[in-house]
Amino acid sequence: MKKIYFKEEHCMACRLCEIACLVAHSKSKKIIKAYKEEFPKLTPRLVIEQKGPLSFAIQCRHCKDAPCISACITGAMKKNKKTNEVSHDSEKCVGCWMCIMSCPFGVILMDAKEKKVATKCDLCKDIGSPACVEACPNEALIYKEASGK
Ligand code: SF4
Ligand code: SF4
Repeated sequence: MKKIYFKEEHCMACRLCEIACLVAHSKSKKIIKAYKEEFPKLTPRLVIEQKGPLSFAIQCRHCKDAPCISACITGAMKKNKKTNEVSHDSEKCVGCWMCIMSCPFGVILMDAKEKKVATKCDLCKDIGSPACVEACPNEALIYKEASGK
């Protein structure tokens, strides 16, 4: 499967990846509308943590033995056996937040639009490849086949 990898030595904390993520998951897909006209305002599904000169992207790792799947009481969190993508089914989600509590990376969010359901990185399946990777001017984010697969 393909995964998003991060090279911290290439990141300058410009946060273009966060902006691209938010716009990609907005209704309009337009930057001004997404930030100024769409409410409730979305939260990017990838965040840049920064301390001094260091910055690091935090997003879903699509874990091999994903604790969010084990914790989910309704089967809303699931793994695609072919691609290994860990995805979330909003139809099955009841908003118990067990996945949020179990994810060691803190990358599952409450959906800003629906409130009762969780949301997370979906690898931008709708547009073909992750918007954060496309937006990074420094190739700090790379989408490639996982090593050993
Ligand atoms: S777009 Fe690239 S350089 Fe900018 S914050 Fe994101 S990962 Fe870092
Ligand atoms: S949401 Fe968290 S626990 Fe679940 S696959 Fe992604 S990183 Fe792993």
